[in-house]
Amino acid sequence: MTKRDYYEVLGVERDADDAALKSAYRKLALMHHPDRNPNNPDAAEKFKEASEAYAVLSDADKRARYDRFGHAGMGASAGFPGFDASGFADLSDLFGGLFGFAAGGGFGGPAGPSGGSDLVYRMTISFRDAAFGVEAPIVVSRLERCDACAGSGAEPGTKPKTCPACGGRGRQRLSQGFLTVTRPCPQCEGEGRIIEKPCAACRGEGRRRAKKEMTVRIPAGVEANSRLRLTGEGDAGPNGGPAGDLYVVLTVAEDDVFARDGDDVVVTLDLPFPTLVLGGEVPVPTLEGSEPLTVPAGTPAGAELRLRGRGMGRLGRGGRGDLLVRVGVHVPSSPSKEEKEMLRRYAELTGAPVGKGKGVLGKAKKIFS
Ligand SMILES: [Zn+2]
Ligand SMILES: [Zn+2]
Repeated sequence: MTKRDYYEVLGVERDADDAALKSAYRKLALMHHPDRNPNNPDAAEKFKEASEAYAVLSDADKRARYDRFGHAGMGASAGFPGFDASGFADLSDLFGGLFGFAAGGGFGGPAGPSGGSDLVYRMTISFRDAAFGVEAPIVVSRLERCDACAGSGAEPGTKPKTCPACGGRGRQRLSQGFLTVTRPCPQCEGEGRIIEKPCAACRGEGRRRAKKEMTVRIPAGVEANSRLRLTGEGDAGPNGGPAGDLYVVLTVAEDDVFARDGDDVVVTLDLPFPTLVLGGEVPVPTLEGSEPLTVPAGTPAGAELRLRGRGMGRLGRGGRGDLLVRVGVHVPSSPSKEEKEMLRRYAELTGAPVGKGKGVLGKAKKIFS
């Protein structure tokens, strides 16, 4: 899109004097100002366009250059800063920062009391509590609304006074040239009220530190480092403002027996060699205690057996994951004389290499070939 002529943008004649330029710009600036047209890119664009036109035409040197070379004379090469990305910044400089683009100043209403801080509470729960969920009592140190003054900060029996400087709006309106701007009232620091007799209990803060007992409901299947948000359970806001939130950050303690794999719980179990070969039923530790597990005949070491529905709670979906049993071989550390004899006999039958001596290698070859 080609750039519109600056005179056309402002709707003035080419010989318009300063007063005419100012008046034309003022009308456009007030109509399209971003504070009056929130979330309206079209208005923002028009405001920018008008501001740019006025910035050039109100400056005698720039206006002369524009009259002679048009927009081409305004490029960066001509020593004049462009307006595209940094346009607003340049303009706020130009007008001495009167518009207050950033902080919601401008034409907005009085500032309400600000909110309280969010708090973080760190807690460690057991592996089982993470699996099943738990209701955990916690004690949080936080700022609560002062009972004595009901959060007003004024001594009981007195009331905060409306700030005489700003009439309680918390802002002052200033007229500077053709622009009217607002800024926080310096006398009440933007609060709109002045406390003459501060509440003794909270020293005028309206809040006091207190310990609050509450119960946190931790859902089944919660993961380590989860953050639970308790809305409105943080610090109370100053001057009766809204409370912040409380975030409970969870650490899940490691378990001696169980590990986690997504929704599944993993347990490693060393089983006797005969059980693996012949099959059998063995007790398996579960999160609830113990359950019988059927080991099929011929189960190799490293096999994974599964107990359905004995894992972690599935967060947000209901039901539970599985218990995975990773099978190893139990090796007796000090077998009896009789056990050793039976094992040697078994080794002879199968050709398993046992001990040192002749023939072992040959027999081993027979096994592993
Ligand atoms: Zn108080
Ligand atoms: Zn004030």
